[in-house]
Amino acid sequence: MKRNLSKSKLISYRQCAKRIWLEVHHPERAKFSAATEAIFKIGHQVGGIAQALYDPDGIGAMIDLKAEGVDAALARTSTLLKWRRPVFEAGFASAGAMAFSDVLLPVGSHAWRMVEIKASGSVKNYQRDDAAIQSFIARKAGVELQAVALAHIDTSWVYPGGGNYRGLLKEVDLTDEAFARTDEVQEWIAGAHAAVDSNREPEIAVGKQCHEPFDCAFLGHCERGTVRASHPVEWLPRIASTKLKTFIADQTVRELSEVPDHLLNALQKRVRDCTVADEIYFDAPGAKSDLAGHALPGLFLDFETISFAVPIWAGTRPFQQIIFQFSVHRLEPSGEASHRAFLDVTGEDPSRRLAENLVESCGEHEPIFVYNAGFEGGRLAELAGRYPDLASGLRAIARRLVDLWPIAVRRYYHPKQQGSWSIKKLLPALVPALCYEDLGGVADGGAAQGAYMEAIQGGASGERVSELRAQLLAYCKLDTWAMVEIWNVFAGAGLNLAKSEN
Ligand code: SF4
Repeated sequence: MKRNLSKSKLISYRQCAKRIWLEVHHPERAKFSAATEAIFKIGHQVGGIAQALYDPDGIGAMIDLKAEGVDAALARTSTLLKWRRPVFEAGFASAGAMAFSDVLLPVGSHAWRMVEIKASGSVKNYQRDDAAIQSFIARKAGVELQAVALAHIDTSWVYPGGGNYRGLLKEVDLTDEAFARTDEVQEWIAGAHAAVDSNREPEIAVGKQCHEPFDCAFLGHCERGTVRASHPVEWLPRIASTKLKTFIADQTVRELSEVPDHLLNALQKRVRDCTVADEIYFDAPGAKSDLAGHALPGLFLDFETISFAVPIWAGTRPFQQIIFQFSVHRLEPSGEASHRAFLDVTGEDPSRRLAENLVESCGEHEPIFVYNAGFEGGRLAELAGRYPDLASGLRAIARRLVDLWPIAVRRYYHPKQQGSWSIKKLLPALVPALCYEDLGGVADGGAAQGAYMEAIQGGASGERVSELRAQLLAYCKLDTWAMVEIWNVFAGAGLNLAKSEN
């Protein structure tokens, strides 16, 4: 008997025929990244909230596919549909495919409305495919579907607090579009079956499809045995021109040295030439003149932020970047430095206390050096919007920001940067004695967010929270110290820097 391919398998087929083949024949070869696991977790959380929103009286029923198994879940769905009450994870099988719908709501005496819940801030193309597949299978299975909609997170909504998530989800009706794609869906199902029924793994080379619309968990498997480029073309920064994109895709170019001059802008040429020749580019007079108008004493500031698809603090929006930590170094003309930091791991909204501490720590006149002023400036503007009594102090800080990042991009490139000017790439190239790897526990922004979440979620012992706190403080402190070192080189100051002990 022909198997029913699940909706997620069909979406995998839409990404790559080899992916669905591997999922069916060799699922053990998949390696899920921490980012993918985190996406699953958020989807689960949003699904839980959607259930409360679409069934406020709690009269609906939930199918638990894992606990019940496919056959029982499909059978129970048939029974539940007779009740005319909301059904969550209702399952249908037909035409060689199978799908479980997030929300199914009764309309009148016979019809149903289907809502798919997505933990994203907008409707993506693959989610439109998802709605088309889902509604096709349900209708083929005999469900009188009147409408299909997708509910995604409304990023402009502000959480009022108290567990009230009304307004978190925003519906987009996809009925006409989804119902009009019947032929397409049938083709996908037929194609997916043909791919899966083959005895041989499809011969498909790794490419753009491995990361769009999702990072494929089989990348490690598909890349085995491939000889890596010594200077991969992916190191080119800001590949925006269609001509360059097409050239890379069509020619399957892998080495930077293969890309001709006429397709590259000045920055990309510099990256290609310096990387291939293993040479450093440094416009020292240019960097010095860029910084000449900002004399010491100066401050060096960095934020660490966290964001939640489902806000946990009143007054915040979904996906809003909320600062939970800052570090600020103050550098005197003598080269002596002092340090201040703020970190709140109580689990309460850190914003108010952080804003007060920030205003107090940033003085009034010194230039404030940051690495990517757009980010810091945006966070300062949000804090000013939330706390009008602190707004003038916060806006004054924003006006004093001096961005080291564009200076780095314009004036410096080291082959070790591999086409990136992130501070994590620039620091070891510019100041080899300093590197993030020595930090151990928290060595990048993602790890900082993970440590912060572990510290505030309540499951960690006091000792562990202290350990996480120390790691976070050390990490953010290194970020601002890195800026001090970068400034010292770029400004041509040659100061004998004296680090503060605290
Ligand atoms: S890694 Fe790329 S080529 Fe391999 S299965 Fe996934 S999408 Fe296909």
